[in-house]
Amino acid sequence: MEIEEIGVVKNRFTEPKSPDHLRKFESTIEVNDEYLDGLEKIENSEYLQVLFYFDRSDDYELIAPRRHGNLRGVFASRSPHRPNSIGSTVVKLLYRKDATLRVKGLDAINNTPVIDIKPYAPPFDRSGNEEIQKNQPRAEIVRLIKTGDLEELLTRAGVLHGHYCPFLALGVMAGQYALNELGGGSGDMEDLIAILETNSCFSDGIQYSTGCTFGNNALVYRDYGKTAVTMAIREGKGIRLYYNQEDYLEENYPDRTDLFEKVVKNREGTEEDERALKQAWTEIAFDLLHKPIEELFKVERVEYPDLPDYAPIYEDKYCSHCGEKYMAPKGIGDENGSNICIPCSGEPYLQLDGSGLREIS
Ligand SMILES: [Zn+2]
Ligand SMILES: [Zn+2]
Repeated sequence: MEIEEIGVVKNRFTEPKSPDHLRKFESTIEVNDEYLDGLEKIENSEYLQVLFYFDRSDDYELIAPRRHGNLRGVFASRSPHRPNSIGSTVVKLLYRKDATLRVKGLDAINNTPVIDIKPYAPPFDRSGNEEIQKNQPRAEIVRLIKTGDLEELLTRAGVLHGHYCPFLALGVMAGQYALNELGGGSGDMEDLIAILETNSCFSDGIQYSTGCTFGNNALVYRDYGKTAVTMAIREGKGIRLYYNQEDYLEENYPDRTDLFEKVVKNREGTEEDERALKQAWTEIAFDLLHKPIEELFKVERVEYPDLPDYAPIYEDKYCSHCGEKYMAPKGIGDENGSNICIPCSGEPYLQLDGSGLREIS
């Protein structure tokens, strides 16, 4: 087998750095002249998959602790230390000039040999079968729930939540645990309901892992301000998890708790503090996944929890003031028989926001 270099990476990094750091910067790929024709129409692709050779990484271990400390095989990791030192990254193509490609997101350092470039085409490159995806959108998450791959679940929940934090991790853990206990995870348990008692980061972990969301009416919100959730099936079986280790974070990560006070509570953090907190949160979140659920939560069986009926389909009405359509019970009729929506009526209404559910008048 013979592999030839087709070009080389040029950027400011002469020493290895973390891939996350490298990906924030732009790089240039200088393609060798003899391959110039091979770039014809490449600018039609917004993203490219770049294969390169880690020419400065030598030793590798077949199984070793990877990022976040858990033991994994080399083929189950993105480590640069591999039997064949080939790296592969999807980059954004910013522009092409002759044999030069300007890209963003490449995690290779200066003078890294490039061995192949191809357009990144999500329908072909996406893992799993598209047909399955369309019939069962949560198939992949269900698999992760069944196999207990909390790390991957949390990684993906970050897409919804926007950051990693301890309570997102707790939500993912609670959701995964409860679904498995209920024999769920079939992916289309339509009768599965989550009763959430908080609207903190925990709630995003629950929504992501269980698929019970604000939008699909499988989520019931009770404004108790407790880190707790009850997962239940309509016919009556349920399980409630309540996070009862209130001091766990303070005791185990005291400096990070101080950082939290400074940045979030008092809003006095510098940019540096914010970065440090973000990193600390990410580490704690992934750490937590290794704790047994019973050490973090009080777990109780619940028979016949009080569940609401299926979401009703309401009649439409049009507001005689603003003309906008609303669900009939959400408006107000007046004696002249006209319909008025809540904002036009000036009546008090309920709002769910950072402070929970409250009446605004
Ligand atoms: Zn969060
Ligand atoms: Zn109106």
